[in-house]
Amino acid sequence: MSSEARILNFSAGPAVLPEPVLTQLQAEMLSLPGVGMSILEISHRSAVFERILEQTLTDLKQLLNVPSGYQLIFLQGGASLQFSMVPMNFLLPDTQAAYIDSGSWGRKAMCEAKREGAISVAWSGKSEGYKRMPKQSEMVLPENPAYLHITSNETIEGIELFDDWDLGDTPLICDASSDILSRPLDVSKYSLIYAGAQKNMGPAGVTLAIVKEELLTRGKRGLHTMLDYSTYVENNSLYNTPPVFSIRVVGLVARWMLDNGGLAAMADLNQRKAELIYQALDQSEGFYRGHADKDSRSRMNLTFRLPSEELEAEFVKMASASGMDGLKGHRSVGGIRASIYNAFPLTGVEVLASFMRDFARQKA
Ligand SMILES: *Cc1c(COP(=O)(O)O)cnc(C)c1O
Repeated sequence: MSSEARILNFSAGPAVLPEPVLTQLQAEMLSLPGVGMSILEISHRSAVFERILEQTLTDLKQLLNVPSGYQLIFLQGGASLQFSMVPMNFLLPDTQAAYIDSGSWGRKAMCEAKREGAISVAWSGKSEGYKRMPKQSEMVLPENPAYLHITSNETIEGIELFDDWDLGDTPLICDASSDILSRPLDVSKYSLIYAGAQKNMGPAGVTLAIVKEELLTRGKRGLHTMLDYSTYVENNSLYNTPPVFSIRVVGLVARWMLDNGGLAAMADLNQRKAELIYQALDQSEGFYRGHADKDSRSRMNLTFRLPSEELEAEFVKMASASGMDGLKGHRSVGGIRASIYNAFPLTGVEVLASFMRDFARQKA
């Protein structure tokens, strides 16, 4: 392989980025146009970076159609730190927070909240093996919960929640790390949406949060400065040094999405991509068995099993020999996981679908 040839990267995260974004980063690596320094070297207090930050926030707001009354902030510590910050800020004494135990990530969020206060499990998919997302009508909420926490896409199990629930006065908080920007969503239904960048938005190192101002007014007081959402809002994400490079990349990815039709176009393409693989799976006469129930099938992380672990290992090995990387499922679920985020090309999905058909024909 030539040193610049790119393979098909099915990694769950950090994940594939749009090629035009990488090309632009490469072009500006010695000097941002007219600046004489790279993005890795400029001050986060410089006018140049402030413009980059502003443009990035403006573009994200446009993409997500964020209504007034919301603030966008950038944080560090990954989505995992949000598992702690959410209850630290919003799980008030003498209240309970409701959690959906939808899979590996929802469970982790719940476990951190338990360190902070009382929680109640509004629904659990554990006994069913985390094969589906619940309906809103299945929720069992305590009286006056501090909030309900959901995970819109369980990256490891490959299940996705497609509805924007309406909970009335109960704040809805969503970990959208692995499906943010993959389709339009109704931000007004949420009090807080957070997402680590490295699945669908950019490189690792930065986390986006979209916070409703009204929720902030209910937050706990006296928290450590860096663990308080208000710090980020009041300082426009510049209280301390933010991850300058990661924010730059998120900005370029947002611009790439706007240039390519925004979230409606992303959603169409993501739907088509996922269908190609699920079709190959459904038409394999049971050779491939999807992990997710049909109406919860993720369009971002597609998980399936083969008749034996030996065949799964062979599948991964042969795929790798054909230039497809990152298909081995997470160790907790096993099998195969194909992560096909926004930037993953349709042609790459076609390659996998055709490989799946050939492999099944040979081995069934
Ligand atoms: C990857 C992921 C996380 C963890 O993200 P980090 O940035 O590694 O902390 C949390 N939730 C979901 C849904 C994820 O996909």
